[in-house]
Amino acid sequence: MNLMDWPQVKGRIEKDYPLKTLCTWKIGGPGKIVYWPQEQEDLVRIVLWCRTQKKPFVLLGRGSNVLLPDEGLNCLVIVSTELKNISWLENIVQVEAGYPLMLLARECAKRSLQGLEFAAGIPGTVGGALAINAGAYGGEIGGLVRELTVLTPEGKRIVLPREEIAFGYRCSSLQAKKYYILESTFELQVNDSKILLERIREFNSKRKNTQPLEFPNAGSVFRNPQGHSAARLIEAAGWKGYRVGGAQVSEKHANFIVNRGDAKAAEVRELIQLIQTDVFHKFGIQLQTEVKMF
Ligand SMILES: Cc1cc2nc3c(=O)[nH]c(=O)nc-3n(C[C@H](O)[C@H](O)[C@H](O)COP(=O)(O)OP(=O)(O)OC[C@H]3O[C@@H](n4cnc5c(N)ncnc54)[C@H](O)[C@@H]3O)c2cc1C
Repeated sequence: MNLMDWPQVKGRIEKDYPLKTLCTWKIGGPGKIVYWPQEQEDLVRIVLWCRTQKKPFVLLGRGSNVLLPDEGLNCLVIVSTELKNISWLENIVQVEAGYPLMLLARECAKRSLQGLEFAAGIPGTVGGALAINAGAYGGEIGGLVRELTVLTPEGKRIVLPREEIAFGYRCSSLQAKKYYILESTFELQVNDSKILLERIREFNSKRKNTQPLEFPNAGSVFRNPQGHSAARLIEAAGWKGYRVGGAQVSEKHANFIVNRGDAKAAEVRELIQLIQTDVFHKFGIQLQTEVKMF
């Protein structure tokens, strides 16, 4: 990809950049070109340019739900994390896609705005969370949306009211339609900030006790099959603690695969396949991955 052909865009560009620094699993070879758009307009321009030039690209937020390949990515990697403008109006917050979800949850609570406490331990961006309708402890981000600004595959920037978006368990119509989320407006309830911050403390201490946050990971690897817990199935099949190279099924939470030091994507994939085959063999249930594999 020749940088000389690029459209006029602002923001940082790096060549042969280590992808492992762009994801929470700390796995992945070099990204040939990595670009951080500075403004929404830059993201729109580069995506349109890639489409008209037929150049492949991938979009990442915080990389907390992805497995990036050991051999790296030859295509353009666009990272949304510089898109982090935010504005507040009473119980409404308008925020760009790259804004950190954890920070947003905490800021809302401090401002006595209720709804996002469940998200205070989810290390993704607002855009990444909306794409898969991130949720925890009975809450889901989709339910708080008032409207979204997205970029359509045809390159149009459109505003979608809540009624035009379908959110399900770790999925959304946004993903299905290949929309890129540019910004979101959330409508929240008002409550005492002390209560909200206390709720965050409780959720976060639950996470600390049940999740292996001391090792690089990507959260839950598998989706919960209807009526089942993926973690319980994996544990019952005897996989807790099992290791392939540097990748290990967490001893604390069987649905987490942790990087015990220099794990390779190939090792994580092998572990995922072994678990899928064995769980299917033992329980007749096909586990689907929640993490997006590139
Ligand atoms: C310790 C830990 C705990 C976690 N706990 C939870 C949890 O409780 N609940 C939960 O749901 N998840 C959880 N996760 C998973 C993850 O944090 C969330 O799914 C998060 O929302 C992903 O956001 P991201 O910015 O990191 O997305 P990325 O990992 O960067 O991308 C994930 C997918 O979203 C797409 N995407 C990213 N940005 C956009 C955008 N602006 N528009 C359209 N598509 C986009 C990417 O192309 C990719 O396909 C956890 C992860 C970790 C590491």
